[in-house]
Amino acid sequence: MRLIVAPVEDREIRAMNRDLVSRCERQVPVGATNEHIVPESGATLLRQADGIHLRYRYHATVLPTSLSKARVLKLLEDLKSCGSLLNEVWDRYGVKVDYEVRSGSHKRDSRTFVTLKDWPSRSDSANFYSMKSHWAFDQVACFEDCPVDDLECLSNCDQIRKDSFCRTVLHESGHHLQLDDEYPEEDRGKIQTVAFNARPWSVMDTTNESLDEVEFFPRHLRSILPTLCPNVLTENERRLVENANRALEPTSIHKALWWVFPDLIIPAIPET
Ligand SMILES: [Zn+2]
Repeated sequence: MRLIVAPVEDREIRAMNRDLVSRCERQVPVGATNEHIVPESGATLLRQADGIHLRYRYHATVLPTSLSKARVLKLLEDLKSCGSLLNEVWDRYGVKVDYEVRSGSHKRDSRTFVTLKDWPSRSDSANFYSMKSHWAFDQVACFEDCPVDDLECLSNCDQIRKDSFCRTVLHESGHHLQLDDEYPEEDRGKIQTVAFNARPWSVMDTTNESLDEVEFFPRHLRSILPTLCPNVLTENERRLVENANRALEPTSIHKALWWVFPDLIIPAIPET
């Protein structure tokens, strides 16, 4: 595995992102879209009269097939409800999120096909699991610890489950913009960016932090926006992207330190 240490971004992450977005807005005419450039299954960007829109058209299949109709509807509602969280994050940067969830027969313009599975596991960009079973907080155990008639306890567990589910959907929605994971992974064959940012955390790093402590960073927008507005980056920003694509061998001490002190800021890669 090879890592690229992500440079620590400026404090003004949101302002930098808004600047990139408004530059993009000025460069492309109303009606422009990147839908012919991004992969079939990806989210698309559109320039509309009121600004840049990010469009998700999810098509969800719920499993297992033995679920009651009511449970299927509830899980689809949960997935639909995550749209407001995506909007809340992207609104910080001046981007509107058009978010749809469909199920049943495929519509012609459905793009991103996901399977929504009602058992605990680790989600990926094609499989969203309704629950997490995590060493720090086992959501199954939360339900099991409630007395069967304690509706308040059960509803608290369900709220925790839903919040965590939507944070996972936010992370996976980053993959639908072709962003890679930013947590260190041992068995990755390819070059990997690892986010050493903490508070705010990268959406592509963790799904455990609260919403006001996670952000998409300028490095993400610099990779996303040029598919809609090819000239959006300045010369200096183009260099940053090139540098980020250049490999840097992490030392084992970097990795060891990260696991022990996740808040530790590792110096940025040199920019020249
Ligand atoms: Zn991921």
